[in-house]
Amino acid sequence: MAFESLSEKLQNALSKLKGKGKLNEKDVDLAMREVKLALLEADVNFKVVKNFINDVKKRAVGSEVMNSLTPGQQVVKIVNDELTKLMGERESKINFSSSPPTIILMCGLQGAGKTTTAAKLSMSFKKQNRRPLLVACDIYRPAAIKQLEVVGEKAQVPVFSMGDKINPVDIAKAALEHGKKNGNDVIIIDTAGRLHIDEDLMAELENIKNVLNPEEVLLVVDSMTGQDAVNVAETFDEKLGITGVILTKLDGDARGGAALSIRAVTNKPIKFVAMGEKLEDLEPFHPDRMASRILG
Ligand code: GDP
Repeated sequence: MAFESLSEKLQNALSKLKGKGKLNEKDVDLAMREVKLALLEADVNFKVVKNFINDVKKRAVGSEVMNSLTPGQQVVKIVNDELTKLMGERESKINFSSSPPTIILMCGLQGAGKTTTAAKLSMSFKKQNRRPLLVACDIYRPAAIKQLEVVGEKAQVPVFSMGDKINPVDIAKAALEHGKKNGNDVIIIDTAGRLHIDEDLMAELENIKNVLNPEEVLLVVDSMTGQDAVNVAETFDEKLGITGVILTKLDGDARGGAALSIRAVTNKPIKFVAMGEKLEDLEPFHPDRMASRILG
């Protein structure tokens, strides 16, 4: 389960405050020290933790809180608010084009879950009565095209491919023409990943982006890689410019550091989270619900 250990530690630290009738600054300091440790152990970015603790403390030692009848509960509410803020405040939806088709470029490192997530996303669009098209632009990994065809079939979404001999930019252009002709209103481009970020990969993605001018450039990152996921997001955003992040494998991420750091570090929203391998396992990301879930 995601955030299991963080959740337990935060609840533990804050429960000590909840029971108290009156609070002083020292009580808050002690609890915040525990909160800080819990966040660092959850692999949250160091600077993010520092700012978070400062923000909470500033609000918590104010006289309204200290003099209230339930100061402990007020502090818990402040922590909840600040966690929500950290993750982006409110849901960030897909930006659909006013003149369809909407083009969504999926990018990310190999194994992050790009292909699976492209299919999940296409299925969720289908449920909204849209007409998605999946496009196979990963021509380097031998099984990638086949994999997209298999998941596309499961999602009952058509897949456009031209094999592995054509340049991905040309495939993307042809897919756009094909989609327009067939009345597809959302075109999801699955691109190649690499084990590490390299210049060739970025150049190719940039070419596709320049030619298609997509509404969304969604970066898929594996939450289980913690701060590496945050670094990957920073680099992709610097080099390519992303519009949002999809965090995968949250079902296996006991810590949660990526989810809690990415927004604050990159200033780009987490749009969806994936919590399993099945096509249904994709959810819009709600910072407020996630914060409440963490605090129990
Ligand atoms: P790609 O290389 O980025 O296209 O990654 P794939 O879509 O091929 O996914 C890599 C592996 O991660 C596959 O075995 C997927 O089933 C698995 N996977 C993807 N998303 C999730 C998720 O949210 N949870 C879990 N547990 N596994 C996932």
